[in-house]
Amino acid sequence: MANTALVVSAHSADFVWRAGGAIALHAAKGWQVTVVCLSYGERGESAKLWRLPGMTLERVKAEREKEARAAAEVLGVHDIQFWDLGDYPITLTNDSLFRLVDVYRDIHPRSVLTHSKEDPYNRDHPAVTDFAQHARITAQAHGHNPHQKVLGAPPVFLFEPHQPEQCGWKPDVLLGIDGVWDRKRAAIECMAGQEHLWEYYTRVAQQRGAQAARNPEKAIKYGEGYQSVFPHVVETLG
Ligand SMILES: [Zn+2]
Repeated sequence: MANTALVVSAHSADFVWRAGGAIALHAAKGWQVTVVCLSYGERGESAKLWRLPGMTLERVKAEREKEARAAAEVLGVHDIQFWDLGDYPITLTNDSLFRLVDVYRDIHPRSVLTHSKEDPYNRDHPAVTDFAQHARITAQAHGHNPHQKVLGAPPVFLFEPHQPEQCGWKPDVLLGIDGVWDRKRAAIECMAGQEHLWEYYTRVAQQRGAQAARNPEKAIKYGEGYQSVFPHVVETLG
């Protein structure tokens, strides 16, 4: 059975900026990556689309889905799901939480990627990380749907937020993504509604690449940073 990873994205473009490199890298290694987009970001993260004449909420959602599907295809996503839970504010019910628990138990991800714990600029992102981690813990609970196999303990990696310092986010994992940078950039360019972020996230990748190169002194040009929730358990310290 292939390795699997789960990416829980509040809005339909977040997974591209924040984890596109990790997704493409693991997909290229044969991992099956599932991306759950809990909302389209139709109200709060679609400003350019709203400037077009005659725009409606349904049209914005349709455009956003089209963009995210195109990006997912470029990155090699195995399964992308759109749950349409609304944004600004996102509505996260227990029904949705149990639905996410089912996803965990269905794919048994080896790795989970989601948002930072804090974000004073965006209330949906911290709500979603709490939701994704709550679902993970529920999927580990033996008393929840006891006939099913419980989830193990996949590590959780928190995406880089837009303003890391204000979000109390500090990377302790740097992933070199040189081999898949072209794919990440192509996926970024699928996000026509947020063109103002293309260069910004290219600079972020260069910055994390420079840091990644500095630490092991390897030649790395592009990177992604993550903050891990749990300690890394290792066999040796070397
Ligand atoms: Zn977002």
